[in-house]
Amino acid sequence: MPVAAMRQRHTIVKKIWVCVQCRANSSIASSNALRTSRKPKSSLPSEPVRTRFAPSPTGYLHLGSLRTALFNYLLAKRTNGQFLLRIEDTDQKRTIPGAEERLYNDLKWAGLRWDEGPDVGGPHGPYRQSERTALYQSHANDLIASGHAYRCFCSVKRLDALNRQRNQAGLPLGYDRACFDISAEESAERAAKGEPYVVRLKADHYPMFDDLVYGKTGQNRTGKKQLELIDRVYDDPILLKSDGHPTYHLANVVDDHHMKITHVIRGTEWMASTPLHVALYNAFQWTPPQFGHVPLLVDQNGQKLSKRNADIDISIFRDRDVIIPDALVNFAALLGWSHTQKSDVFTLAELENIFNLKITKGNATVVFDKLWFLQKAHAQRCAAEGGPAFESLVERTTKVAEQKWPQEQLNQVLQGRTLSSVIAELFRADAKSFTTADNFLARNKTFFTTNIERPRYTPITTTDDPLNALHILSAALTLVPESHWTAETHRANIRAFLNATTENASQEEKKRLTKETFHYLRWALSGGASGPEIPETMAILGRAETIRRLTDAMEMTKDTRKT
Ligand code: GLU
Repeated sequence: MPVAAMRQRHTIVKKIWVCVQCRANSSIASSNALRTSRKPKSSLPSEPVRTRFAPSPTGYLHLGSLRTALFNYLLAKRTNGQFLLRIEDTDQKRTIPGAEERLYNDLKWAGLRWDEGPDVGGPHGPYRQSERTALYQSHANDLIASGHAYRCFCSVKRLDALNRQRNQAGLPLGYDRACFDISAEESAERAAKGEPYVVRLKADHYPMFDDLVYGKTGQNRTGKKQLELIDRVYDDPILLKSDGHPTYHLANVVDDHHMKITHVIRGTEWMASTPLHVALYNAFQWTPPQFGHVPLLVDQNGQKLSKRNADIDISIFRDRDVIIPDALVNFAALLGWSHTQKSDVFTLAELENIFNLKITKGNATVVFDKLWFLQKAHAQRCAAEGGPAFESLVERTTKVAEQKWPQEQLNQVLQGRTLSSVIAELFRADAKSFTTADNFLARNKTFFTTNIERPRYTPITTTDDPLNALHILSAALTLVPESHWTAETHRANIRAFLNATTENASQEEKKRLTKETFHYLRWALSGGASGPEIPETMAILGRAETIRRLTDAMEMTKDTRKT
């Protein structure tokens, strides 16, 4: 529509009244104001899609952003499409040095790979917004030429004064479109002379859109603010700042279009911006991508996840807790996505084959017990399969152990072995209990010290004295030579002992002695702490340390036996 015609229409529609409260609710910062209706579309696109993860390097990857990246990645994989990484660094002031590198490393650690991105290139680059400024400027100019945008020369001082006045009068804040009436010629001339300006979208209509998760969404509202017979204001959001850099909205839309993105999966915090984005697509006469907004992550009290309640940097999960990448990815995938498989345990490769868009509406509650459950399952699989994932798990746990205990203490128990080889053995024996490195090491601390704290021995059996037999077993176990010092030998020896000792005994007695034997050996070897099974415990402790512990235990219980 020519500018003159638009202005005329603008004069006619000026008088539409919209109440203050509606205006406040429809603020692009608030997603709650959006109405949703109608069922969302089917759960998997039939064509290969192009998705992207578009982080700003103003922070690091955290659980919520990992989930966004993951859903986009999985949708692309599942449909044989492409997944892109785009760095949205338009807010240079808030950019954290090194954050971009960290994002790459954290995403790669989680197993995500992108087909196009700043580091790998691609046909639609550059993939860093700071390198695309000229493109945004040229598109802003296109919108000015088509009458969908205009230069605004208002000073910050004027805008502040305007808003202050409105605030005092209890009116909604906004822009009065003072600069919209400047003629195209004058506007171009003032810009050419170097007068500072921003480019604003002439936002007359924010359309509804069909969300993949929420269905028909939005308010189909005008961009005009209310009460306005006397005092009109408009949204007219800024597209290009006075320093010539784009705002998020312009850059995001221009890039999604040029990068041929077909599906945008992002957090519901962006949902309120989507009508504006659709308005921009319409202004450019471009087809918008499909949008799917994924639910907010909340803690068990319904509070939005924040740094304080564990929306923490992925590197903490990786380095401090030693979470297995597949376990974290599995956990993130289940936050708001539902499936019909029998089990909840999936590797990334499995997720790539089963993912769909059955994304739940409403907040997704983050329950860390689920992460511990998944971590145990993935730890067992890792330990059984070996390979690089297992090596990395062992290596990261070893680092935590090195920080936890002094080297001199560790040297005493290692007896020439490496710490990582002991930790690898521990994993093979006890991966089923691995939640975090710290918990795992604390549970198994007896393997990292020669100093065992044993309470006084209390037998389970009260009817007769089992210690005689247990001392005979202990002595027999110490006779196993180094060459046969394996969990299998110990298991066979203990079984043989129990069979021989209870040859003529009743079932009841057999059970009792078996129980007592393991109770005694656990007390003798680890002071009663839970951990791997006894034969494995002996194998991991090694011959010398096991003999020392069994002998000490016999000494400690000699007197008990006499009395
Ligand atoms: N740069 C935005 C962010 O930091 C991207 C939002 C979107 O996906 O459109 O999350």
